[in-house]
Amino acid sequence: MRVSRLMLVTLRDDPAEAEIPSHKLLLRAGYIRRVASGIYAYLPLLFRVLQKISAIVREELNATGALETLLPQLQPADLWQRSGRWSGYTAGEGIMFHLSDRQGRELGLGPTHEEVITALAADLLRSYRQLPVNLYQIQTKFRDEIRPRFGLMRGREFIMKDGYSFHADEASLKECYAEMDRAYRRIFSRCGLKAVAVEADSGAIGGSASQEFMVTAEAGEDLILSSGDGSYAANQERAVSLAPEAVPLAAQPCQALATPGQSSIEDLCSAHGFDPSQIVKVLLLLARCADGSLQPVLVSLRGDQRLNDVKLANAVSARLAPAQGGLLSIEPLTPDLVRTERLPLDLGAVPFGYLGPDLSDAALVATPGPAPGLGAKPQPRLVAKLLRLTDPTAAQLDGFICGGNRSDLHQVGASWAVLGLKPDVVDLRAAQPGDRCLHDPKQTLSAARGIEVGHIFQLGRKYSEALGARFTNESGTEEALWMGCYGIGVSRLAQAAVEQNHDSNGICWPVAIAPFEVIVVIANLQEPSQRQLGEELYGSLLDAGLDVLLDDRDERAGVKFKDADLLGIPWRVVVGRGAKDGQVELVQRQGSLKRELATADLLAELPGLIEAGRSGLLA
Ligand code: ATP
Ligand code: MG
Repeated sequence: MRVSRLMLVTLRDDPAEAEIPSHKLLLRAGYIRRVASGIYAYLPLLFRVLQKISAIVREELNATGALETLLPQLQPADLWQRSGRWSGYTAGEGIMFHLSDRQGRELGLGPTHEEVITALAADLLRSYRQLPVNLYQIQTKFRDEIRPRFGLMRGREFIMKDGYSFHADEASLKECYAEMDRAYRRIFSRCGLKAVAVEADSGAIGGSASQEFMVTAEAGEDLILSSGDGSYAANQERAVSLAPEAVPLAAQPCQALATPGQSSIEDLCSAHGFDPSQIVKVLLLLARCADGSLQPVLVSLRGDQRLNDVKLANAVSARLAPAQGGLLSIEPLTPDLVRTERLPLDLGAVPFGYLGPDLSDAALVATPGPAPGLGAKPQPRLVAKLLRLTDPTAAQLDGFICGGNRSDLHQVGASWAVLGLKPDVVDLRAAQPGDRCLHDPKQTLSAARGIEVGHIFQLGRKYSEALGARFTNESGTEEALWMGCYGIGVSRLAQAAVEQNHDSNGICWPVAIAPFEVIVVIANLQEPSQRQLGEELYGSLLDAGLDVLLDDRDERAGVKFKDADLLGIPWRVVVGRGAKDGQVELVQRQGSLKRELATADLLAELPGLIEAGRSGLLA
């Protein structure tokens, strides 16, 4: 490929739309162009990177016996209704782009493919003799992300490798999951990435195992908490730890304490010398469900602890009635929310800032909702009973301070028995860096940021049961298939590689996924000897099986060197003044190698150096 034919436009300055280094560099070096929010054109240079990543993914997955397939991106609503995910994915904060066809039938643009593949499995898999099966595809996915950002990191249209496996029993699923774990480690390391495996949240699906692969980088959106001994690492969404010990509260009878204007924990502590760990903090939230019901939630947490939203959503989902059709969203319930969204409830009797775990259900009053509009949206309807959840840190306190459910009043020396409550105890607190580890309290958790590039998941039988994907087992009885699913963000991975491999001059691609392995720069195109040698070398290096880019532009040498650094091609061959003596300069993009050598030596050595890089022996 010739740079003159590449419609290469490089930018000297950082584009205003980009915040993180990899996004800036991919734009500046002409790899991507933004078309709309979260929607990017992958220009030819990036397309080559994506193809190289895909080739590595294919090689490694095919080696495990997985089969490549290609499923439709347009998916009928009916399949998603059967799995129970249609409303969750299309209403509220749902991320599925959806539309109606000319017959008025509803369709969604695939954000993921569990429904489609399980329907196929229901159709095609009948007997244990056909199992296990592992299918994957590499395809564009669509997600109307709430906050598309950082270029390819969080796009609304992006490339994913998604795979799904079907098994006769859980043991076979676990085997496949372990095999995918190994394949993923090989894929990321062959791509030249430093990735770590961490325990991940399994979402509302249930307690099945799931693991994410994180590329560690400052710009990562995820927080990884890990122990120094390397035996525990988890996404903060999921991480568990020991909370610091609470400062005990002297035993005393429960009594009211006037706390005028002391509605925050800090105010309360500074006015009365309490420690935050002696206080039970009570939060009022509202869960919106797919059937239109509004479920108020009352969370009790120790005053020095923070709520983990993911754990909360999982706990609430698990406790909703099936008729509520699943959780759409959950957010703090405030007078502002009620007003702006015209929700059918009255919070006049709720003493915000003074809530106790024993807040009466009657404090929330249902009011007639707005008249039904023309849309088919279900009408919001308040569930009259609070869903009360208590974190262990609060449940374990013998005596504590909490709100008195009246303005300007707290209760001191309260206990669960005195309040007449039997707490529904569930882990809701966010583990923090510095916390002691569960597996060894001498170890503490430290934090690092990560970019999630892959996620493997033991799904169990949720989808096969919902979509009737059943098979006949060895003893002749019918049962639901066991399922696993496995994703890699191919386009995100390309950008994550840049995030991990760049310097002040530009990108430094790992050889294995670089768009080109070597760039031949003709320093002065007006000099016939340089031009001729450059062209010859280009041909010879291509013949040697290398991916070669020839900078044949009639530009100043300095401009071409700068661009070569920005593009990040691992090796550069400069054909300059030495050309008439058959001498060229070889420069490694990342590293210190820089030397003059004869053309013949270059042709003898470079293919070996690049081959070592391709196989990951040399980054
Ligand atoms: P995230 O938590 O980052 O939103 P996810 O849990 O929704 O990711 P999965 O549904 O497991 O992601 O998708 C598989 C992989 O696809 C992810 O590991 C990630 O690498 C990639 N991915 C997910 N969403 C996006 C996106 N909006 N843009 C680019 N890649 C994405
Ligand atoms: Mg997501």
